[in-house]
Amino acid sequence: MSLQGQQTRAYYQRAREVFPYGVNSNFRYWGEDDTFVISRAKGPYLWDADDKRYTDFRLAFGPIILGHANERVVNAVTEAIKNGTQFAFTNTLEIEAGERVTRMAGIDKVRFTNSGTEATMHALRVARAYTGREKFIKFEGCYHGVHDYVLFNTANSPGEALGSRRSPLPTPVSSGIPRGMADYVIIAPYNDIERIEEMVAQSWHETAAILVEPIMGNVAGVMPKPGFLEKLRELCDKYGIVLIFDEVKTGFRIANGGAQEYFNIKADLVTYAKAMGNGFPVAAFGGKEKVMMTIEPGQMIHTGTFNGNGVGMAATVATLDILENESIIDQIYEWGTKLMNGIDGILTRQGVPHVMTGVAPMFSFGLGIEQTPHDVRDYNKADQMLYEHFTTELVKRGVMPELDGKEPWFMCAAHDESVIHESLNVIEDVAKSFFK
Ligand code: PMP
Repeated sequence: MSLQGQQTRAYYQRAREVFPYGVNSNFRYWGEDDTFVISRAKGPYLWDADDKRYTDFRLAFGPIILGHANERVVNAVTEAIKNGTQFAFTNTLEIEAGERVTRMAGIDKVRFTNSGTEATMHALRVARAYTGREKFIKFEGCYHGVHDYVLFNTANSPGEALGSRRSPLPTPVSSGIPRGMADYVIIAPYNDIERIEEMVAQSWHETAAILVEPIMGNVAGVMPKPGFLEKLRELCDKYGIVLIFDEVKTGFRIANGGAQEYFNIKADLVTYAKAMGNGFPVAAFGGKEKVMMTIEPGQMIHTGTFNGNGVGMAATVATLDILENESIIDQIYEWGTKLMNGIDGILTRQGVPHVMTGVAPMFSFGLGIEQTPHDVRDYNKADQMLYEHFTTELVKRGVMPELDGKEPWFMCAAHDESVIHESLNVIEDVAKSFFK
């Protein structure tokens, strides 16, 4: 049975005429019969082109932290754009957004940009310029966007991971990446404290940065082992390497100050995007004064026509104002924990071997495994087809997580107690017939 209703199917056929595979981002493609076309969203809900309602746990892969079309954010953006959005000069809203981001994130300096990809690209360049070194360390399974430098050994690598767990081989995730790019990336196993120590001892003199997702937001929310991030901090201090936390998923989601606050560890550079603007396109990279001040007009480039544009800045100021002044994230933990525990209980009652992963604002679970995964190879032992089939049944019933369990269930402030209760009823119902 197709997930597409009649109208959705008709729209999708039109989309295929103009976009390769009918989408503007490959991750949105669920196959010819199942790719959605959405017409609107509000709060915790999405409606497809057939006006069928779904409780949204994908939340655009993370940006929606307050709920879709949050009125205060929409009003702030609506007001701001009446005054123009692009000036090729610093604008007043931008300063306010910068003050809020630096204060909440606990960083000295920030520069705005427009996507997570741009944020990690610029952060890497700053780290290289700061250290005068060319390579960087990336962990197997982490995702940092789509520029050529970082598109290696993500969780979506086609086929089996290449190389041993100890020494993964740099493997591009896409055609079109120049072969030479592999010379600049050192792939390390996530959560292997001893191995990273050895790798850094061997390569520090050519290593500009260690780039890491502090929680593996692209591998089901796999958590860092106690001591892992601390070890990265220690090694970076010892060898003059720039520690970059990619907080595109964790930023303004797992705590107001993101993973830096959650784990009480300061990186040298940090990248943000998704939750910062509750769905409006905006991103940032920032960090310590001495590293960020490597940027220098005419010498060390960070530019961009749309950087700091009025839409993103108004959305950022409004979103962060709400996050800073109301206990939104606490609320998300409370309801997210209810949902997580609820799913855990349902799977247990059905006798399905499983393990819950991540934190309440972004969690997932693996089916058919019972050991907590510590890296992407562990997670890949889970039965991913079973997960896909189970979640497909949920989607048919109007509860919509991503069908790939590596992409977490995201929570937002609009997922209140009644939404969670309703969703758990559906999940229990589906689980009873699916796992019987
Ligand atoms: N870093 C992380 C950790 C991400 O999860 C993503 C996107 N999922 C990116 C970077 C890239 O962000 P964008 O899609 O905005 O380019």
